[in-house]
Amino acid sequence: MPAPPAFDGNEVANAKPLKRKVRPDVTLKKTLCASCDIACSVVSEVQNGRVVRVRSSDNPIFRDNICMKGIVAPKGFAHPDRIRTPLKRVGERGSGQWQEVSWEEAMSDIGARLNGIIDQHGPEAWAVSTSQWNTATDHGLGRRLMNHVGSPNWISGVALCAGNTAAINRLTYGWFPLADFSQTNCIVLFGHNPKRHSWVPIYNQIRRAQARGAKLIVLDPRKSENAEVADIWLPLKAGSDAAMCLGWLNVIINEELYDKKFVAEWTQGFEELKQRVDQYPLDRVAQLTGCEPEAIAQAARLYATSGPSVIPWTPLTDMQRNSTSAIRLHSILRAICGYLDVPGGELLHGFNPDIIPETDIEMHESLSLEQQDKQLGNDKHPAFTYRGQRPLMAANKRVWGREYNNQVTGCYMANPSATFRAMAGEGPYPVKAFFVLGNNTLMSYANMPLILKAMMNQDLVVVHEQFMTPTAQLADYILPGDSWLERPWLMDGFGWTSLYRPSQQAMEPPGECKSTFEFWRQLASAMGHSEVVPWNSLEEFYDYRLEKTGMSFEEFSEKYEIYFSQPKFKKYLDTGFATPSGKVELKSSVLDGLGFDPLPYFREDPVNSDDFPLMMFTGVREDEFFQTGHRHIPEMRKRKPEPYLFVSPQTAKDYDLVEDEWASVENPMGAIEMKVGIRDNMPDGLVRIPHGWWRPEAQQGLGNLSDALKLSDAMICPDDDDHLDREQGIPHLKGIACRIKKLALKTEATQ
Ligand code: SF4
Repeated sequence: MPAPPAFDGNEVANAKPLKRKVRPDVTLKKTLCASCDIACSVVSEVQNGRVVRVRSSDNPIFRDNICMKGIVAPKGFAHPDRIRTPLKRVGERGSGQWQEVSWEEAMSDIGARLNGIIDQHGPEAWAVSTSQWNTATDHGLGRRLMNHVGSPNWISGVALCAGNTAAINRLTYGWFPLADFSQTNCIVLFGHNPKRHSWVPIYNQIRRAQARGAKLIVLDPRKSENAEVADIWLPLKAGSDAAMCLGWLNVIINEELYDKKFVAEWTQGFEELKQRVDQYPLDRVAQLTGCEPEAIAQAARLYATSGPSVIPWTPLTDMQRNSTSAIRLHSILRAICGYLDVPGGELLHGFNPDIIPETDIEMHESLSLEQQDKQLGNDKHPAFTYRGQRPLMAANKRVWGREYNNQVTGCYMANPSATFRAMAGEGPYPVKAFFVLGNNTLMSYANMPLILKAMMNQDLVVVHEQFMTPTAQLADYILPGDSWLERPWLMDGFGWTSLYRPSQQAMEPPGECKSTFEFWRQLASAMGHSEVVPWNSLEEFYDYRLEKTGMSFEEFSEKYEIYFSQPKFKKYLDTGFATPSGKVELKSSVLDGLGFDPLPYFREDPVNSDDFPLMMFTGVREDEFFQTGHRHIPEMRKRKPEPYLFVSPQTAKDYDLVEDEWASVENPMGAIEMKVGIRDNMPDGLVRIPHGWWRPEAQQGLGNLSDALKLSDAMICPDDDDHLDREQGIPHLKGIACRIKKLALKTEATQ
């Protein structure tokens, strides 16, 4: 999940540093925290070669707060359970029997075995799952090697968090925009809830915007922290974002609150869109969303008339069965209200002309059309695959100067569910080698039982990790990964922004821990393709990318905290939009060509059976953790020792649930266990399930997987047709039927 702060570059660049006293034996390093997906600028204090403290940076976006995960990072990375040496499996897969080996020995065997699998089954038999937010220094080199070898089967958690949003935004106006918090007059949060310890810079920017008078509209089933301080709070039914947006458009179009000049000159499909939104009068939208018609209208009017307004990226809309429509509806609202590429609105950054972007590093043009078309899932759910994004190539070349544009790494992905099915032997061809980098794959997508079956059916599983995650426990090889304190980094939001930020290496990695860059460099060499990654070090690679600036990475990182060009607004006046028509496609020609409804719509939830009368929403992040990480850190576990589900007092009463006692959450896929938290801000009948729970201290290996089999939300997240978005094939995590049963009281010994 992921969001580079949408800051105003000027504000950061012109900030005056605070005067702070620093001990003479302490060195300061400008670093970017990667303990979550935000990349806050922080200062690392180094003493005797080790980072002894991480504190907030002096720049105005970041200095108001630093979250607990950033502060505790040095301690977390120094944990005795950190994997410091390459490990080779010596017993059965998942038996927990390992032998220490050298990188050279591991990579030599991995390269030979991977080449053997490719010779036998074809390059498409190699799949990779990663999360660039965690690996950071991948920089597209994994895609580059895969493209060179011929495999299109790259998947990532960004399929349901920001990467897919980028791909779907491109369908409408050709770039994934960033909200200009610094000048906006109105902010709309669709379920997103930035807090002091989660999405910190966005939290800071929202509070600063409110302090200068900007309005805040929050749409969230719960009365969240942001809802508490909002001008309007709409407690919409979980997963009904698309219906709500159709209601807003009904108001905005029929009350003529939109930007008529922009719509007339720069959009296509407005009349058809109007006919579609007329099918969603407010009484129908009220019934679909559970909100009052007048409150819906009031929010729509505030958004349209107090602008420029922003609907910043939200992870919530990314994970719904109507996700494609909902993301497109956000795009359409931005466009018809005239908020695209204007100060205070939503900015289409484009590429920074001085620095080689990751999309060029990836070399997608070297993957043949024949191999691109083998990408798993592109037949049924093509929206973010090569096939789905291909119609944008000519437009991308016209506007942005290159045919490929992989924003937030999400525009040319295989479908995760289809990939796991092929790995499990249920696909159009076999996938027999699976590489995982900085990604706890088992628990990071829907249908964990399928992923487990898929991983057990592999000939080769390689994991690059810091700790023995449930996924790593199933590997043939584990290569130890470095951390953000231990490597340099050049950050651009993975193709989202034209802002570049450097991070200085603050200390040496422990033991044999190495960067993702080094992983790909050594793998390319072991496979006989060393020319694909020809740089000898990360610094040399960054020097290459920065060549046009005339600076080495070392000079660049000393000189700049942020590197950017002055923003140019309304660039479309010169180039048109990067869509096939050159206009904002309210009616999508790309979706039409792929055989989908070109207009946004709302598909209602399946009817609940009496056996599963409650609805759960999952994928929820907790302040102490990022995704499935951080559970090994004592300070975090002291604050949150166990997973808690939340229900309303009435739901607790109906199901005889007691605060702090254990309950089982069940649906046709299975059951998981959580402790009960009763919260006044929860609506009746809704169960909030935290994402990504396991216990690093619990028994490892197949059969328990550090308790992931009984605690992980992915165990009960389905990926059948009813629970997948049609166009992208990503899972619906915001409204899954379930039931709750109270469990017999557990003692410490049975937990
Ligand atoms: Fe690090 Fe916290 Fe910022 Fe995330 S929000 S980047 S964990 S300091």
